[in-house]
Amino acid sequence: MDNLKEYSKDEIIKMLEEKKIKAKDLTDSGICPTCFNKESNGAVFGDDTDKTIYENDKFSVFLVGNPRAEGHTAISTKKHFKDMMDIDDDTCKEIFVLAKKVMNVIREVYKSESVYLCTMCDGPMNHFHLQLIPRYSFEERGSDNFVKPRFDYKEDKEKIEKLRELLKN
Ligand SMILES: [Zn+2]
Repeated sequence: MDNLKEYSKDEIIKMLEEKKIKAKDLTDSGICPTCFNKESNGAVFGDDTDKTIYENDKFSVFLVGNPRAEGHTAISTKKHFKDMMDIDDDTCKEIFVLAKKVMNVIREVYKSESVYLCTMCDGPMNHFHLQLIPRYSFEERGSDNFVKPRFDYKEDKEKIEKLRELLKN
């Protein structure tokens, strides 16, 4: 794959639509897939408004499209940061206070035993986000929960409403 920076935005969108390239190819070419997705109305990851459970002027919180557990959630900054090592202290404090709240709400709504947090924005370009992965009572504790197999997202409207309601306050 050539560096995608040699292509126009429309050409990249066309390649994404034809499934010739994936988010990873944008990352490898130094293009942020999250910001590109936003600028192209969801050409990379699709429109995620139906998965969004909370947002304010700085952050959005949404259910992951290819989750590792029911309730697998991501928190992303609206502004572009390459990874956690690049964020300012205020953003760092605010996102962790928000993450604590979201983790408690996930545990309550999904009745999970715990919720794990990880961040690993690696590669030439990425967009800082935290991942919150529930660990259920039928699952063993430990770091294997970070690499549970992914599956297709299935919408649960009732849970989404509850998450939105609890995060509103
Ligand atoms: Zn970005």
